Amino acid sequence: MEEETDDKYEIKLVDASMVENCICEEVKPEEVSEMLELGKKMIEYCFSVGAAGLAAPQIGVYKKMFVYRKTEDSFQIIFNPSFIKVSKRPMKVLEGCLTYKEKGYLVERYKEIQAIFYIPFKGGLKRTGVALKGEKSIYFQHETDHTNGITIKMKGVPQVGQKE
Ligand SMILES: [Zn+2]
Repeated sequence: MEEETDDKYEIKLVDASMVENCICEEVKPEEVSEMLELGKKMIEYCFSVGAAGLAAPQIGVYKKMFVYRKTEDSFQIIFNPSFIKVSKRPMKVLEGCLTYKEKGYLVERYKEIQAIFYIPFKGGLKRTGVALKGEKSIYFQHETDHTNGITIKMKGVPQVGQKE
């Protein structure tokens, strides 16, 4: 009998240098149950710090996976994400990131996207998609960027004294 400690995945943010330009692997069907366990812990972490999302590479797990706030009080675990922009032009959005607690960055995002990702299905993965707009769309783009090694510091303009 195999015993595993509960803290197999301790949710601990890694340094920005470990997040920027990182390379994440796709989640494979045989990794789904393990990644779901991790996802649940990531969601607990988001609730505890009041975050809208967290991507696996931010805690040193280099997999294309993230959790994000889907409704006011629920999060969704997303595998192997990508998206197609629906809005023709991007807009500028002020965003924060758990990896850069001290500063916000102005980044370009699309108000509306078609999100594409995988969800657990019959012990494996199933491709699915959903149209997103507004905040949810922005969270999805932010976290998808993380799974591609891209951060708001790399693509955005730093905002200091962001009172307004
Ligand atoms: Zn982030």
